[in-house]
Amino acid sequence: MKTLRIENLSKNFGSTEVLKKINLDIDEGNFLVLLGPSGCGKSTLLNIIAGLETINEGKVYIDDYNVSKVEPKDRNIAMVFQSYALYPSMNVRENMIFGLKQAKTSKEKIEEQLKKVSSFLKVDELLHRKPSQLSGGQRQRVAIGRALVREPRIFLFDEPLSNLDAKLRVEMRREIKKLHQTLKTTVVYVTHDQTEAMSLGTKIAIMNHGVIQQNDTPENIYNKPNNTFVADFIGSPSMNLIEGRLIQNSDKISFVAEGSEKSTQIPVDNYNFKSSTNLNDKQIYFGIRPEHIHFKKLNENDFEVNFKANLSEYIGHEQIITFNFSNQEILAKFPSTINIELNKDMKLYFDLSQISIFDKTSKERI
Ligand code: ADP
Ligand code: MG
Repeated sequence: MKTLRIENLSKNFGSTEVLKKINLDIDEGNFLVLLGPSGCGKSTLLNIIAGLETINEGKVYIDDYNVSKVEPKDRNIAMVFQSYALYPSMNVRENMIFGLKQAKTSKEKIEEQLKKVSSFLKVDELLHRKPSQLSGGQRQRVAIGRALVREPRIFLFDEPLSNLDAKLRVEMRREIKKLHQTLKTTVVYVTHDQTEAMSLGTKIAIMNHGVIQQNDTPENIYNKPNNTFVADFIGSPSMNLIEGRLIQNSDKISFVAEGSEKSTQIPVDNYNFKSSTNLNDKQIYFGIRPEHIHFKKLNENDFEVNFKANLSEYIGHEQIITFNFSNQEILAKFPSTINIELNKDMKLYFDLSQISIFDKTSKERI
């Protein structure tokens, strides 16, 4: 039984198709992050799960029960919004217990829940303050508290950290992770921030234009992206996608970058192709992350390539170097302690155990 299951879900606003045949499910206790660029349909999907938005096609199940037509208040779900949506005229205590009172929970149970959750979230000293007398981080805690007291089946979070400054955002991110570790409640969490997604999610569903591009573990999303959208969206700087083609003869397969000498062949025999047929002469993108280009040979199979560096960006603990490889721009990431001379021939090493290969036409991983 899946805690949440979304089946063939489509949603239009007028003639705009915002969600296109979404299929998604979540096991009990998982933390699913919906990640994608602004406007791709994340909030719409979350609102549909909450019952705040209608569906054009498809179904939503909670514990195998079709809730597509069930009122939001009867779905046993709690949502934390980006804007916190606290009632400004109520104090923290009243804000936190509002939902329980609406649900006609007994006075004893309300007090018990309030005490437990407010001390857990360290807002027990703030119960008599109004939202306007709280810092951003404290408001966020209260908004989470209001969801927690209800002990919902599923928590929905819509970009809950995006109104906080960078330092607080990282702190609250860790608190949300601890919270999930302790409570183990099923979570669906929307963000456009890849670091947040990577650090929180047990699963990440990457969306673009209302379509799920990949729903996978953070490790697989990072190391085995399904297509060039996912490869490009995750990682900073993005994965290098070098254009070129494959050459297959007898049992050897290699990659030749566009514009480079046919003699500069990068062996890709050890790459795990989904299918090994029709690879010869296939136009592809050869994907390699900036951190998998090394300045010295680290592994047996690291492949030596000649480069000229033409730009260096110092970012404190690291430096990002831009290279020219057969007229294609390639980025590599090195420790900032290494001295790289610009406009001079040098050798670099591709870690061929970490590459991804995509069909140039379909943009899919092959
Ligand atoms: P995200 O949360 O990923 O940024 P949204 O789900 O908010 O994206 O929006 C997806 C698309 O649907 C956007 O193009 C947005 O303009 C449109 N949209 C969202 N809500 C409405 C609405 N109530 N009416 C019309 N268009 C909407
Ligand atoms: Mg949104």
